[in-house]
Amino acid sequence: MRLTDDLYAFVWEGYENNCNSFFLGGSVGALIDPGHLRFADSLLDRMSVDGISLGDIRLVIVTHSHPDHMEAVPRFTEQGVPVAMHPAALEYLDQIGAAMYQWMGSDLPGIDGVIPIEEGPVGALDGLVSVYHTPGHEPGSLCVHWPERKALATGDLVFSGSVGRTDFPGGDHARLMAEVDRMSRLEVEHLLPGHGPVLQSEAAIARNYADMRAVFG
Ligand SMILES: [Zn+2]
Repeated sequence: MRLTDDLYAFVWEGYENNCNSFFLGGSVGALIDPGHLRFADSLLDRMSVDGISLGDIRLVIVTHSHPDHMEAVPRFTEQGVPVAMHPAALEYLDQIGAAMYQWMGSDLPGIDGVIPIEEGPVGALDGLVSVYHTPGHEPGSLCVHWPERKALATGDLVFSGSVGRTDFPGGDHARLMAEVDRMSRLEVEHLLPGHGPVLQSEAAIARNYADMRAVFG
């Protein structure tokens, strides 16, 4: 679904757990979080309704290594679509990924060819989008900022009415709240969380950050 201009949200509405996916269109061409493998075809169908095809995706950015955000990665790498994650997330997958995926009831996806990206403007997207390293939910968690559209995809850092859980291995609540604070200083009109509804006004986003500080800070 088109949110505004060339910004698209594919908010997950199914009963089973899966993440929201977002497409930053125009000259960017970035898909954020492809989700579970078994829902990848329905995501691609929903994207095609909005006129977006696999060929429009220049880069898939994965906000963190949990299966509900990235199990579908091979669906894209196998088609030659580059996928990027923070190096700490790749390291995390390497160290405890197999055990974590088993515990979450999924198979560890193949991540051959996944590109590590550090905090800063994303070169593969001509610097139009920046990623921020925002650990707390997972050591390699990323947020993706598109300044031109004042849009921020937060993965499982912050949601409408909640923040990411930190009871998984590598979780750190104090660090998560520090990153929530840091992200709250960016100019954002479209807050795009990994789960639940998107927030679409500066006032609603500011209120949400204030509530999160009061409840979880
Ligand atoms: Zn997660």
